[in-house]
Amino acid sequence: MNELTDLDRAIYEWQLDVPGFGEKGQRILRNSTALVSRCGGLGGPICQSLAAAGFGKIIIAHAGNLRLDDLNRQILMRHDDVGKPRAASAKATLEAFNPNVEVEAIDENITEANAADLVSKADVVFGAAPLFEERFLMNRECVRQGKPLIDSAMYNLEGRIITIVPGESACLACLYPEIPPNWKRRFPVIGAVSALAAQIGVMEGIKLLAGLGTANANKMIYFDSASMRFQTIALKRNPECEVCGGA
Ligand SMILES: [Zn+2]
Repeated sequence: MNELTDLDRAIYEWQLDVPGFGEKGQRILRNSTALVSRCGGLGGPICQSLAAAGFGKIIIAHAGNLRLDDLNRQILMRHDDVGKPRAASAKATLEAFNPNVEVEAIDENITEANAADLVSKADVVFGAAPLFEERFLMNRECVRQGKPLIDSAMYNLEGRIITIVPGESACLACLYPEIPPNWKRRFPVIGAVSALAAQIGVMEGIKLLAGLGTANANKMIYFDSASMRFQTIALKRNPECEVCGGA
């Protein structure tokens, strides 16, 4: 395990004071790799907070080039990057923000072909993809490989965050055995709502890794920013779940 350097102590001084975190928690993050599936409205703020917190490595998987209509929420991107690959733009922003974090940018979304390999490289996975197909693939691979998955999602003014600890908690497929029938690819979004869901997800991941506080496995954290009402909704494992039922 890599020890903390003097530079680490200088950068992270304010969070080293957090009770229950300290040098031990920082060392865990310094030696951890996070995989983030997509770096858009959700994944971008996730990556930025992971970099701020001092994760050792962040792997970003996101295909395609930046569009003008991404810029209301994709905070790692710059106007000048329109037409260029999103993952590379995100990497450049993160490396400028915290050069002590290694960032690997992959110009691909999560697919059947790459999911197992990418998940195998991570200690924790943050799912921030808009498509259920990708979320289900991440869920299946994380359950299979025993890697914690924080699945964050938002729609309109609402957010939903699920912390999945394989073998212990309900997985995404327990909750959604199939793609919800009324689900749409194009969704209404204000960037602050996706960023809010993202930050809740990041804290769930940090808590799980560093043993800080209580992670919300077997619960969905739901918020409605129209009223700023927050709820935690109990989830149950489905013994018939095709993904985790036998785990
Ligand atoms: Zn399940």
